[in-house]
Amino acid sequence: MADSKKTRKERRPSRNEAEQAVRTLLLWAGEDPAREGLLDTPKRVATAYEDWFSGYKADPVSFLKRTFEEVEGYDEMIVLRDISFESHCEHHMAPIIGVAHVGYLPSNKVVGISKLARVVETFARRFQVQEKMTAQIANCIEDVLKPRGVGVVVDAVHQCMTTRGIHKSGVSMVTSQMLGAFRKDARTRSEFLTMIGKNL
Ligand SMILES: [Zn+2]
Repeated sequence: MADSKKTRKERRPSRNEAEQAVRTLLLWAGEDPAREGLLDTPKRVATAYEDWFSGYKADPVSFLKRTFEEVEGYDEMIVLRDISFESHCEHHMAPIIGVAHVGYLPSNKVVGISKLARVVETFARRFQVQEKMTAQIANCIEDVLKPRGVGVVVDAVHQCMTTRGIHKSGVSMVTSQMLGAFRKDARTRSEFLTMIGKNL
């Protein structure tokens, strides 16, 4: 029994099977997958999935491995704000669209800012829960860079909430994960929140 469970988890379906699953969903929605406009849809959806979920193939740790130490003693906060991302909620497979703000207090090494954006993108391009994604970004930066502190704020709109269910448009969800000095020191946290325009 344990073996069959393991096999089920590890076996990646073929592209053909994925396309067939899309055809099944089209049928189930009431469509005719053989109609001209839908003929190539399963193929397109599979290709879109390769893009939307490319985060499973990327290793966010690798982006943070290349660091710089020659920063002339710079030891103040580094903040990258308004990093736009597109993710998908793991409960409805519906888009989550928003921005992430990432800050850290370097100890002795800094990382290229585009790498912080790559970390956000890698976690976003997986099925997600916003709270989990926020923590993953912060923990990854903490584990690899070992900074004095990390702050991550994510502000996003969940289309499973705006286009279905309770249909509340214009509602965004804000989550934050503060580690080290960002958690312990109210002034550090406040400086970060001011820099990203969230200090209310
Ligand atoms: Zn959802």
